[in-house]
Amino acid sequence: MDFIDLGRQYQLIKDKVDAGIQHVIDSRHFIMGPEIAELEKRLAVFTGRKYCLTCGSGTEALQIPLMAYELQKTDAVFVPSFTFFASAESVNLAGATPVFVDIDSTFNMSIESLEKEIARVLEEGKLTPRGIIPVDLFGRSANYDAILPIAEKYGLFVLEDAAQGFGGSLHGKRNGAFGDVSATSFFPAKPLGCYGDGGAIFTDDEALYNKMKSIRVHGMGSDRYDNIRMGMNGRMDTMQAVVVLAKLDIFEDELKARQEVAAWYTEELADSFVVPETDPEYFSAWAQYTLRAKNAEERAKIIEGMKEKGIPVMIYYPIPLHEQTAYKNLGYGDVKLPYCSQAAKEVFSLPMHPYLKREEVRYICETLKSLI
Ligand SMILES: *Cc1c(COP(=O)(O)O)cnc(C)c1O
Repeated sequence: MDFIDLGRQYQLIKDKVDAGIQHVIDSRHFIMGPEIAELEKRLAVFTGRKYCLTCGSGTEALQIPLMAYELQKTDAVFVPSFTFFASAESVNLAGATPVFVDIDSTFNMSIESLEKEIARVLEEGKLTPRGIIPVDLFGRSANYDAILPIAEKYGLFVLEDAAQGFGGSLHGKRNGAFGDVSATSFFPAKPLGCYGDGGAIFTDDEALYNKMKSIRVHGMGSDRYDNIRMGMNGRMDTMQAVVVLAKLDIFEDELKARQEVAAWYTEELADSFVVPETDPEYFSAWAQYTLRAKNAEERAKIIEGMKEKGIPVMIYYPIPLHEQTAYKNLGYGDVKLPYCSQAAKEVFSLPMHPYLKREEVRYICETLKSLI
């Protein structure tokens, strides 16, 4: 059994992907071919944003907008600590300082902790609050109803990290459309992935879009060889755009199938585990189906037992960012975010993809329940 079965998916899109890749080879538009513009147009429509800019990875999709904000070392950007490393790493890469925020029972940024950290930074007076990076962890939108007014109150930008949330929505508004600018990733294991690295940025702000477009190609000006700022090589390959285009055609069906798989899991497991919180207003993209064991010992037993039965179980995430070596070495050793630290000891994620069958889910759940 695969944790994410991309083989079953490929059978559905094989003709389109194979022909599309062959077409790129024949046309030799490997870089910024017409498929890139087509994909950007379709993704903008999908999210309801005015502008979309594809780029080389989800990490670059976070880094490029942060570079556009021209941040300094003394600028604080608030990031949850329970997420993938790149959510915070991008802040350091852009030259600013991440300030870590705790999570709540949804695994997303805690509003109480966010307000507390903003107040603390203001009181200490060493850093200037500049922005917030809410993460749509495991596919569920962050609490934008609360985050956006806080950002407005303190004059902070909001950069949505929708790497796991793409396809999900809140009050019918799609992830990728929240805040000033949003980032997503097409890493193969994400809800909408390609066959390598890729990413995209979304905004409604024309000036920001133009600046990010320049940063994506070495800070180019209106003349490509007149570089007007520092940028990077942040382009997405045309071949990867072909793969995302093919997958977009079946994405809505896949999102429905993910809902169904998640509902099966919850039905079978709610009596034995802390299952993911659901809310009809939050339509999750179900990038992961994540449970909590009672404690670290129970989780270790589960991981071991599932492995013996050939069922892959992953831990997202075993170490919160503020406890990782890279951040300890940057002086974050004293940061205390109890909910992140607790979750890191208890969480585990089950196989999750749109092509899981009812019998497979039943087998996974029965095996899991036999272990506790
Ligand atoms: C995967 C991921 C990223 C980074 O995306 P890459 O394409 O791997 O660079 C950023 N944030 C989150 C929350 C992710 O899950």
